[in-house]
Amino acid sequence: MKSISVQSLYKAFKIGKENIAVLKDLTFSVNKGEFLSIMGPSGCGKSTLLYLLGGLDKPTSGQVIVNDKNLGTLKEKEKSLMRKREIGFVFQFYNLVPNLTVEDNIMLPLILDGKKIKDYKSKLDKLLEVTEMAHKRKVTPRELSGGQQQRVAIARALIFEPEIILLDEPIGNLDSKSGNDIMKLFKSINKDFGKTLIQVTHSKDAAQYGTNLLQLKDGEIVSQKAII
Ligand code: ADP
Ligand code: MG
Repeated sequence: MKSISVQSLYKAFKIGKENIAVLKDLTFSVNKGEFLSIMGPSGCGKSTLLYLLGGLDKPTSGQVIVNDKNLGTLKEKEKSLMRKREIGFVFQFYNLVPNLTVEDNIMLPLILDGKKIKDYKSKLDKLLEVTEMAHKRKVTPRELSGGQQQRVAIARALIFEPEIILLDEPIGNLDSKSGNDIMKLFKSINKDFGKTLIQVTHSKDAAQYGTNLLQLKDGEIVSQKAII
């Protein structure tokens, strides 16, 4: 069963009068339950690819199919629902709201979606436990370390129980100890909760936590293999 399928994906940016091709004819797929690491040097198009997979940007040509739905044929509203409920995002710089508590940051997607927070109380408790942040639930991000802030961002990405989680350099801003702890958390989210994870990274060590590796160079796939 496939989570994501990418066919002949091409992305160019227009800079001045020039069209610069960033992704050139990518074809690959990600199975349900896979933890794919996408590696490549800075500027090779990793973030661009991740945004296309999550429907945050549109390809110049080619297809992205997520859970059997072709993003290119979805209406904006359907795509936005999908981004909210079927895909979780975690970025390098956490993107938390500084004056909201940990709990409120985690529940923010629900609040923005008009959901009743009390229906999600047990899920919130569970996520606080999984991310080991229960003791900090009432504090604001200002009082947290980088690793703790990323844990909050991870809990927030999981609140709608998406099947797919996209990670853009999730430990890029952390020291190696906190980074390894976060990677272990992702590994457990992949193995114990059966989520499909796709991380982009330029770190070989971080990539090793995945089940599969896809290497990009100059916008093209140079290798694709299982990690053993
Ligand atoms: P990576 O994440 O691998 O470091 P990116 O996907 O961010 O690389 O960027 C790949 C290339 O595309 C870079 O040369 C970058 O400058 C260019 N690029 C990315 N986004 C845009 C944009 N919105 N407009 C123009 N150029 C862009
Ligand atoms: Mg990037």
